[in-house]
Amino acid sequence: MAGLMTEKFLETPPETPEPQSEPTSGQDQHPEVYLHEACGTATQMPKHIRRNYLADPYFYNEDTICAKCGVVTDTACRWVDTGENLHDYMRRLQKAKSGAYHIVRWCLPLVIGMFITLFGAYLKANKGEAVTPEVLCAAFVFGVAIAWYPSKFIRLFLCKVDFI
Ligand SMILES: [Zn+2]
Repeated sequence: MAGLMTEKFLETPPETPEPQSEPTSGQDQHPEVYLHEACGTATQMPKHIRRNYLADPYFYNEDTICAKCGVVTDTACRWVDTGENLHDYMRRLQKAKSGAYHIVRWCLPLVIGMFITLFGAYLKANKGEAVTPEVLCAAFVFGVAIAWYPSKFIRLFLCKVDFI
């Protein structure tokens, strides 16, 4: 999960029952505490991260945090409540997303990249410089690369407002 090093992951002793204090739309059916099998440490999934992947299961990458070991792969962890492997669980959430979601997932960076390309071409032409197909292609690749990361946040927003 990119950027998770700055997040606060709390260790939870397996014997401690979790308080069920979040009566939000169906999210309380999803597990919150996972076990890193190599060290046996139980970690509480932070609520905002949980909300993010339940809305957009492609938002994070395939790493998670063990409260004891730090960054670990999700294949190395399982939910305490259900026993399901974290990786299998995430794949299941991903498979449940609609076709519209996947169209947005792939097309959004391309569309934003296209706008960056057109804007760059406009600026270049405005300065009297030549806008060749080679320049346009290079600008498009550059534009999509720039758009890739921020488009995740637009996609997450669209998921949270139930648009996709
Ligand atoms: Zn661990």
